[in-house]
Amino acid sequence: MNRLWTLAASASLCLAQTPLIDRSKLVDMSYPFDGKTIYWPTAKPFEWHKDAWGPSAAGFWYASATFTTSELGGTHLDSPLHFGQGQPGTAEIPVSRLVGPAKVIDISAACNRDRDYRLTAADVAAFEKAHGRIAAGDLVLIRTGWGRFWPDRKKYLGDDTPADASRLSFPGLSREAAMLLAERGVSGVGIDTASIDYGKSKDFICHQVLARAGIFNLENVANLDKVPATGAILFALPVKISGGTGGPVRIIALTP
Ligand SMILES: [Zn+2]
Repeated sequence: MNRLWTLAASASLCLAQTPLIDRSKLVDMSYPFDGKTIYWPTAKPFEWHKDAWGPSAAGFWYASATFTTSELGGTHLDSPLHFGQGQPGTAEIPVSRLVGPAKVIDISAACNRDRDYRLTAADVAAFEKAHGRIAAGDLVLIRTGWGRFWPDRKKYLGDDTPADASRLSFPGLSREAAMLLAERGVSGVGIDTASIDYGKSKDFICHQVLARAGIFNLENVANLDKVPATGAILFALPVKISGGTGGPVRIIALTP
């Protein structure tokens, strides 16, 4: 009994010395929601208003507010239902798919040269040659470098004409790259632009390919430059909307 107690005491001492999470290694990968948050040009912007704000009749401070938003603006998740009939909605994605190893594919140099660049299957192959094969359950993030333009709509989207999405220009994925990632069985694909399909896309083919495979997307992902190619664990937790086509998502990376 005595020995058991000693073992338990030394185990708890051990835990105290090596915390499970080093909080200095957390990276916040979501942008705030406010009047500057970038939405798709045809979507209503984020709305927020105060319902009560100040001392109550009884004398204590009381503040409450209401927000209204498209499911698909700012840093958000696209559920597979968004482009896949019969696929899971936001609340139906199990948390086991929303947490996983992050793999960051950096195509920022190519995107610098061509703002309509699309990640190729060869880019994915080059990443795997350098960092190992992308595995089932991975969360693959595409780094285009576009985060540096946030929240400048014109630079970020390529065009800031209100309610017009016909002249957008920003990088994304090619159909072949999306098919390869689907083949690998990844849980989700994220990007630091407004869409996984490039701005000029009219058929949103990568959305179609990934949704049909039950894969969710993360768009307008922040701080991709602060997460290494491999070794981080990603937590991408959307608002749990039953049957949702997506939702605002708080993404946190625990870096090595
Ligand atoms: Zn999307």
